[in-house]
Amino acid sequence: MAAPFARPCGFPDTVVLVSFYNTQAPGLRLLQALLERAGYQVSLFFYENKGFHPPSAWELQTLTDRIQRAYPIMVVVCLETQVGFSAAQLLFQGLKPYGLPVVCGGAYATVYPMACLSAGAHYVLQGNDARALVFLADALTGRGEDPARIPGLSYRDGAVFVLKEAVFSRGLEHLPPPCLQSSCVYRIQSDTIKQEDPERSARSYTVFLSRDCPYQCAGCAQPMLRQMAQGKSPVLHFRSVQSVLWELNQAKKFRPYLCQVQFIAPCFPEVTGWLEEFLQEYPQTVGLPFWLHTYPKNCDTDLLRRLRKAGLRGVHFCLGSGSLPIRRQILYRYETNRELLRTACNAWESGVDAIAYTFFQIPDQPVSALKETFSLLQTFPGRYSVSWKQFVPALGYSPPPVPDCRVPHPVSSSPPPQDVPSDPVRQAWQDLIALWQVPLLRPVCHWAAENPTAHGLFLHRLWRLTSVALKFRDQWCHIRLLLRRFFSLR
Ligand code: SF4
Repeated sequence: MAAPFARPCGFPDTVVLVSFYNTQAPGLRLLQALLERAGYQVSLFFYENKGFHPPSAWELQTLTDRIQRAYPIMVVVCLETQVGFSAAQLLFQGLKPYGLPVVCGGAYATVYPMACLSAGAHYVLQGNDARALVFLADALTGRGEDPARIPGLSYRDGAVFVLKEAVFSRGLEHLPPPCLQSSCVYRIQSDTIKQEDPERSARSYTVFLSRDCPYQCAGCAQPMLRQMAQGKSPVLHFRSVQSVLWELNQAKKFRPYLCQVQFIAPCFPEVTGWLEEFLQEYPQTVGLPFWLHTYPKNCDTDLLRRLRKAGLRGVHFCLGSGSLPIRRQILYRYETNRELLRTACNAWESGVDAIAYTFFQIPDQPVSALKETFSLLQTFPGRYSVSWKQFVPALGYSPPPVPDCRVPHPVSSSPPPQDVPSDPVRQAWQDLIALWQVPLLRPVCHWAAENPTAHGLFLHRLWRLTSVALKFRDQWCHIRLLLRRFFSLR
């Protein structure tokens, strides 16, 4: 446990919240709302770096100086990924001389509490019951009970680590919506610090409609957390329509450039009356165009058509890989190619865009799997987009061997630099997959697919040019959405 920290008189009870690489950070903003509701002042620090580089010496020094000058009762670092943890370790070292109580929370901290305590954290909040943080703030200001008695709070007592069971709260409605307005927000980026919320100029806002989901995807921390929570079965909770609409209206109020909404809903709420209430109220009270991120099996035409009337523009779903064994045995996604095609057809028939994302750097993915992805995409009807993401295995994930599709040479665990493809054949197929989404270029793709290796450089350059054009197209779409919001144009 942290030794009592001497704070000068007259300083307000401030809690510092720090996020690395994630500026939207809904969990952190929810903690802010809870702490402010309990009477604490909150300062937020967002460290941004698009390449996921650790903070520079100047950035680290500035961050620790600013934190120390606030004389906070505790510093809370939200950890969701390994890369965030690596950056946080530098902060822990920087804060050590000041003796400030340091707390870790988030998915990474829940799964690896020992690593956090060994790295210098005094407390680890395990699970998702954010109220434990308020209990800890009360304890540290002498208003609450001993931190050792707070459920779900592991701690370090000298050389002894006391680990507790993670606590998961089931419901959602007792939680306040994330706080979207604060005067004490700092953005650290490229050796500068500014007092501004990085999300204030955001054009898109992401909302989660549920907690937990019934799926097991390999690139997600959710299945691991579910196992820790209580057992094997998912405990789905959906947010009420009113709480979602309230949050979105707050976002509209505090984000002046907001012009679109992204709903994260692995399952669309199957609560009686939810959809009807949403369809009736969303267009009237929010009225922004929205995109749905969901599981491919949940995109039936009837749902998409109804949502389109309320403003749905597109549906994002994971295609993963065109190879069934890779999808099943490495990505833990069990839909068939026929079901993926059905999803794309349903989107097309409903008049909304299909946006399929696929992964590069999947361990053990042979070139033949990329060919299968290309073949699958060739069957997709109408307009659709493809986006590439790096496959990042979830916390605690160890890929099983896939004997029937193992490649003869090992695949590097780090992504290849974008400009210098490490494997020309693989890169040529990735470029073909990306280019196929542009109908105008499909004859060229047909021709190049005969022998992609021979046309690798041409395909790569063509894709680089095309991706610039697609970025301009996206910018133009954003401008149109902004104009639509402010001048009611179509
Ligand atoms: S559907 Fe989404 S939330 Fe559920 S396990 Fe897969 S990636 Fe995670």
